[in-house]
Amino acid sequence: MADIRVTVWNEFRHEKIHESVSKVYPDGIHQVIAGFLQEEDDLQVRTAVLDDPEHGLSDEVLDNTDVLVWWGHMAHGDVDDAVVAKVVRRVWSGMGFIALHSSHFSKVFKSLMGTSCDLKWRAENEKERIWVVEPSHPIAAGLEQEYFEVPEEEMYGERFDIPAPEELVFISWFAGGNVVRSGCCYRRNQGKVFYFRPGHETCPTFFQSEVQLVIKNAIRWAVPNRGPKVTFGRSQPLEPLS
Ligand code: ZN
Repeated sequence: MADIRVTVWNEFRHEKIHESVSKVYPDGIHQVIAGFLQEEDDLQVRTAVLDDPEHGLSDEVLDNTDVLVWWGHMAHGDVDDAVVAKVVRRVWSGMGFIALHSSHFSKVFKSLMGTSCDLKWRAENEKERIWVVEPSHPIAAGLEQEYFEVPEEEMYGERFDIPAPEELVFISWFAGGNVVRSGCCYRRNQGKVFYFRPGHETCPTFFQSEVQLVIKNAIRWAVPNRGPKVTFGRSQPLEPLS
């Protein structure tokens, strides 16, 4: 089987200006994510950041991307609308899209969802318990228990204004009492979209093995399946009409 071509995109701003972030991710969140993905034989990984020309998402890069992994937070507004439109069209044509943590508010994810994607939040470093609610789902494969915990995370809570997920793989509970749908699958025309909640920039969440496993599984789930070419518009009858 051909390698899965993964592009890990990060806005890469917090790491440059906030010491609380750079001490956890000195080379950027994207480098940590790319690092654990590169350990997998079937994944071919590159990175792109906001400040690259065209945000690192040229046609050449997108032509060679099966799954785009996205982390953004403080600079959603700096992402060029033309690039957003291009990425959304790619997803419609089959490119997988994995939105991590605060990327719930990225222009690409909001455009794909068509809702505000707003939620409750609280950055108090509380425990997150992530329950597997669809254990047979490929994104949950290899998780050994019915839940796993991230010791310190930002809280995101319901209501999370997303369309009802087509498949809900995880629900998170937080020490402060909130819950949120935290592993959400969607199909958008030929493309697959997965939202995965944990990954606050001041927490070492992306070093945690369960989180890494979920992201790897999500990439393999979101791979374009090379199904039939889709056409729209006026359609000739396949049988003679009387
Ligand atoms: Zn956060």
